[in-house]
Amino acid sequence: MSPQPGPTTQTTEVDTGDLRRVLRRAASHAADWLEGLPDRPVAPTAALEELRDRLGHPLSEDGLASDQVLDELVRDTAGGLMGSTGGSFFGWVIGGALPAALAADWMTSAWDQNAALYAASPAAAVLEEIAGSWLKELLGLPPAASFAFVTGCQMAHVTALAAARHRLLDRVHWDVERRGLHGAPAVTVLVGDLHHASIDRALRMLGIGTDAIQVLGTDPLGRMRLDELEAALKESAGQPTIVSLQAGDLNAGAVDDFSQAIPLIREHPNAWAHVDGAFGLWAAAASTKRHLVVGVEAADSWAVDGHKWLNTPFDSGYAIVADAQAHRAAFAVSESYLVHSGTMARDQLDWTPEWSRRGRGVATYAALRNLGRSGIADLVENCCLQAQVLTLSLAALPGVELLHEPTLNQGLVRFLSPGDRDHDEFTDSVIAAIQTDGRAWFGGTSWRGQRAMRISVCNWRTGTDHVDRAVAAVKAALENAASAI
Ligand SMILES: *Cc1c(COP(=O)(O)O)cnc(C)c1O
Repeated sequence: MSPQPGPTTQTTEVDTGDLRRVLRRAASHAADWLEGLPDRPVAPTAALEELRDRLGHPLSEDGLASDQVLDELVRDTAGGLMGSTGGSFFGWVIGGALPAALAADWMTSAWDQNAALYAASPAAAVLEEIAGSWLKELLGLPPAASFAFVTGCQMAHVTALAAARHRLLDRVHWDVERRGLHGAPAVTVLVGDLHHASIDRALRMLGIGTDAIQVLGTDPLGRMRLDELEAALKESAGQPTIVSLQAGDLNAGAVDDFSQAIPLIREHPNAWAHVDGAFGLWAAAASTKRHLVVGVEAADSWAVDGHKWLNTPFDSGYAIVADAQAHRAAFAVSESYLVHSGTMARDQLDWTPEWSRRGRGVATYAALRNLGRSGIADLVENCCLQAQVLTLSLAALPGVELLHEPTLNQGLVRFLSPGDRDHDEFTDSVIAAIQTDGRAWFGGTSWRGQRAMRISVCNWRTGTDHVDRAVAAVKAALENAASAI
């Protein structure tokens, strides 16, 4: 084919609208959404087909004006959004964004920086540098530890365990970054039976695979059994071994006994202690809860979320690694077209799995500035208090059995069927009725062989009024479900 003359240069007609007008409009829609949270059902009300119909406009030949796009987006999603950012959501551990963090996140999008390299955005690089050192200080972790701001705890596991993989295999003279895992010495991974499935997924992504996992039992408090840990470490002696401990299991918020477990891991010549602290590690930031995680600072790596208990918007997770060199070895890149800053400044790309990325540290920086040490401690303590009041108030209702009184921010109850019929089925039917009621939202889970309702408080908004409304909603749903039997 002979080269064709290119089309004549032509600027595409894009109606950007009036920039200030469309941004103000977005701010106004956002405030409407947030202010309206208490008056709308927490659960989504729009059906799947309805949303597909509303949102499924034909891909048009000609575009729409910016403000029309925005208005129709708001109109078409109505009823299809979960009120999880409000104070009446007690389902999964999902925090609600602080206004300062939300506003900073808007600035992140407005600045639209590529926060991969210092050279591409000096302020974004320095913001992360500062926010990372604040996080270590707040959580009581080693000041020399490295860190990465990633999308969430899932990717924080991938990041931290890539560092672990590097260090453990390097000690047995295997360069995993160059050679991969084919033919490499096996890596064993020890986890408790309450571990989060994001650990398994991290191992899948890292090529270690789930067959490497050895599941250890937990004691009545949900902590990894130390006798089993000791025996498993003895068995894998000399082999590269990752032990994944946990601060805050998703049901009862169980926390491992770090001050006992980590010294045992240290006796093993080639083991790495990782901590899944997605929400539970925040206990370290509150003086009344810090005792729960004592000794955690001795681990090798930690994964924790901003978008859960720090109440930043999604996506915000942190990987923190004591062995900065192993962390860097797993991710650092050097390319001629990039502008590397060497030791002068921090290039985020050397620590993250992403290449181009948003200024992910900005919202965290703003949340930490907004709350300060005491504000964060208050946030953590208030959530724990509300979780306890809510759980005990529910447990005081007739037909409610208390399964777990919160030690942190997580409680568990179940509902007893009148006439002693199927309690599991009854529990699920009451949970469904509460969700339909709309005044609060709780989710179900299986705990120690029984169906249960999780009570999770993880939001700066949740106060006494939300707790009272939630108790009233549960009471009504329970009475209706019981009379329907
Ligand atoms: C939420 C959670 C995760 C996963 O975190 P994401 O931020 O959703 O990726 C991992 N572990 C625990 C204990 C969690 O609660």
